[in-house]
Amino acid sequence: MGLIVQKFGGSSVANAERVMNVARIVTDTYKQGNDVVVVVSAQGDTTDDLIAKGREINPKGSKREMDMLMSAGEQISISLLAMAIESLGFHAVSLLGWQAGFETSSVYGAARIKRVNADRIKTEIGQRKIVVVAGFQGLNRYDDITTFGRGGSDTSAVAIAAAINADRCQIFTDVEGVYTADPRKIPNAVKLEEITYDEMLELATLGAQVLNNRSVEMAKKYNVEMEVLSSLVRKPGTIVKEAVKVEKMLISGVAKDTNVSRISVIGVADEPGIAFKMFSRLAAKNINVDIILQSVGRDQTKDISFTVARDSCEEAVAIIKQFMDSVSGSEIVVDNTVAKVSIVGAGMESHAGVAAKMFEALYSAAVNIQMIATSEIKISVLIEESYADKAVAAIHGAFFD
Ligand code: ADP
Ligand code: ASP
Ligand code: MG
Repeated sequence: MGLIVQKFGGSSVANAERVMNVARIVTDTYKQGNDVVVVVSAQGDTTDDLIAKGREINPKGSKREMDMLMSAGEQISISLLAMAIESLGFHAVSLLGWQAGFETSSVYGAARIKRVNADRIKTEIGQRKIVVVAGFQGLNRYDDITTFGRGGSDTSAVAIAAAINADRCQIFTDVEGVYTADPRKIPNAVKLEEITYDEMLELATLGAQVLNNRSVEMAKKYNVEMEVLSSLVRKPGTIVKEAVKVEKMLISGVAKDTNVSRISVIGVADEPGIAFKMFSRLAAKNINVDIILQSVGRDQTKDISFTVARDSCEEAVAIIKQFMDSVSGSEIVVDNTVAKVSIVGAGMESHAGVAAKMFEALYSAAVNIQMIATSEIKISVLIEESYADKAVAAIHGAFFD
């Protein structure tokens, strides 16, 4: 007898048949004597459709209203799943984020979970009900609905698991676990039995969509063991935890991120404080800067290039332009056709030649590297977007074939 949190993504609840399939997984778990809290995403492409509807009415609609709109998708799926569970003869109760006790920061569209007051969830469990919670949403201090950013239901599940001290947090999706690369793009990608929080966090942050990076961050913080598994095939998935028993793999995966833009500021004065002034202005507007490269220019000038998420590029350029107006002679060049390809692996700390092997694979595939960034457990390169899939295949082949 245990306490289990199970999360199902959009494709797992895309239609009536899939919702019934989820109801069977959940009730089977319950029948084995477990208490079950289920977190669900909106059905199929519902969230994308809602965003499109909002933009159609007003492309610059306020973030508050966009959250109100987007959160509606999950309201549909929780009620449908609760009714599906009832149809199988079990008691279920659906709860919106606020009913489940999700208290968040006030940033619409990217709210952070401050606390989960799990009293209601516990009361419902106490009555032996299966609790079905809407993912990706909570309530801020103004009593407004907030959402957590795309893919945020994974974080809802981990937050509940931490708050009720669940024995397991299972993330059901449309693939059988975490692979060495996106299995839909790389057919010979290998399913991992286990992966550490640190490696999974890097992979998720660098573009492996299978888990939301914030969920992994939270799982590590509260020591919640996660399992990623398929809702369509019943077999063990991938366990995400602190330390893995298998010997450190050299590389645990290859990831691709195309939500990237490169901004180059060319010909700025070669004097102290320029980088500080530029990047502090971006930070003040919550714009995350990723890879940074500074190079020597001509005539006592330097060039600074950096990457930002493509959806914040326009805002970043406006901020830099405003700053550059006070510094004459420079020019801004933007490239929206780049991609970041990365390898992640705890084993690279203790092995020489990993970077060389990655670069050799790119050279063999005739892919030019624009920028490079490294840390103890990852190497990222910025390349032309149209080469990204080819680059992932070449790098994956070099390390795993
Ligand atoms: P859900 O709707 O269940 O949240 P997502 O679409 O967010 O599912 O995530 C699952 C998808 O992540 C898979 O269909 C797969 O294409 C993609 N993916 C990317 N990288 C990986 C990886 N390394 N391992 C497994 N899946 C990956
Ligand atoms: N429905 C939301 C999205 O599509 C949250 C999620 O699926 O995790 O991003
Ligand atoms: Mg997801």
